Amino acid sequence: MNRSELEKIKKEALENKIPIIMDDTLDEIAKILKEVKPAKILEIGTAVGYSAICFSEYLQEDGSIDTIERDEERVIKAKENIRKAEVEDKINIYFGDAVEILPTLNCKYDIVFIDAAKGKYPIFLKEGLRMLNDNGIIIADNVLYKGYVLSDYNKHKQRTAVRNLREFLKELEENPELETTILEVGDGLAVARKRLSK
Ligand code: SAH
Ligand code: MG
Repeated sequence: MNRSELEKIKKEALENKIPIIMDDTLDEIAKILKEVKPAKILEIGTAVGYSAICFSEYLQEDGSIDTIERDEERVIKAKENIRKAEVEDKINIYFGDAVEILPTLNCKYDIVFIDAAKGKYPIFLKEGLRMLNDNGIIIADNVLYKGYVLSDYNKHKQRTAVRNLREFLKELEENPELETTILEVGDGLAVARKRLSK
């Protein structure tokens, strides 16, 4: 990976107000990835490729990342960034709505990273769980959504997103196959590990 390019990609993304992963959130995920050494990662929400490029460093030797993005301009930028970072052999982008693409995938993943439309998290969870390896981990960003999710916030246009994030967290917590932790880094990070026994 080309680190000086990665710094430029990050700077440009921030200047363009692309909601890339926050540094403290990335640090937490990096710890998990170092421990897991994943062969396959699924990412929902590529944006301009920043997080996928960062994650690619922690893959097993011949591992790879599949990542989904519905905004065409961002897909074009992500491809350019991935090439500049010299990790194009490790990252495969699907262009389209993840709600439509996910049901067509049939791989097994060690890590599923959810970082897209908050209102769709319950759907992403269902599809992610279907493709999660036995010792896999679901990681989801922005689950506390500026504090709205755990407060009595109940207004305006974010209402559906907040309701669906609450539903998502409830499903994680009530799923007997998962051991879930919510970390208060960045905008809230959920880490749900499949329990080994059962
Ligand atoms: N993971 C990226 C940031 C992703 S921002 C990083 O940290 O670098 C969220 C992205 O998800 C946006 O680019 C948005 O266009 C995309 N997105 C939102 N809903 C989506 C959906 N249903 N299907 C595919 N992409 C989606
Ligand atoms: Mg995010």
